[in-house]
Amino acid sequence: MSEKTEKMKEIRDEVIALKESPLYQYRTQNKYYPVLGEGSHDSKIMFIGEAPGKNEAETGKPFCGASGRILDELLAHIEIPRENVYVTNIVKDRPPSNRDPLPSEIAIYAPFLMRQIEIIQPKVIATLGRFSMKYIMEKFGLEEELGPISQLHGKVLEADVSFGKIKIVPLYHPAVAVYNADSKEELKKDFEVLKEFK
Ligand code: URA
Repeated sequence: MSEKTEKMKEIRDEVIALKESPLYQYRTQNKYYPVLGEGSHDSKIMFIGEAPGKNEAETGKPFCGASGRILDELLAHIEIPRENVYVTNIVKDRPPSNRDPLPSEIAIYAPFLMRQIEIIQPKVIATLGRFSMKYIMEKFGLEEELGPISQLHGKVLEADVSFGKIKIVPLYHPAVAVYNADSKEELKKDFEVLKEFK
């Protein structure tokens, strides 16, 4: 097993055993899985969503429901195979009723996300939705540039991180396009900025 895969497995084992999480009991009572992430550990592009929904918690795979179908369509639009990128979330367990993640939930799961970023060392982090946008921008010293996602979506920002310079691209969450064709067109346009990092 490669070193990266081994480190990812350690993270998975720690999350599975994370009894301190406010979502742990909800997961076990419903026989849900934590959703760690999926894709290439050598990807140049890492997508970070919010938290698993019901489909994801039932399968352990990120973005495999309605939002996932939109994500697949957006990746197909820029001709990037999904298996070439890495897809994960900030919060690794499903919050009840698909509510927004709480600050306490983000706080407990984000350190695992940061370890995943250190393992993959992507050239680009594409955040999906305002929660991962805010967390990543604050974490990587871009708090001064924070603003509403309606102003930041599709912009290419630069950040200095432990393994070099990377780009951060805030994107709308694919869920916005599930029932709204205009949002899908906007998302497609925004995704085009990722093409050069294939
Ligand atoms: N929405 C997310 O933010 N992440 C998923 O994995 C699925 C839906």
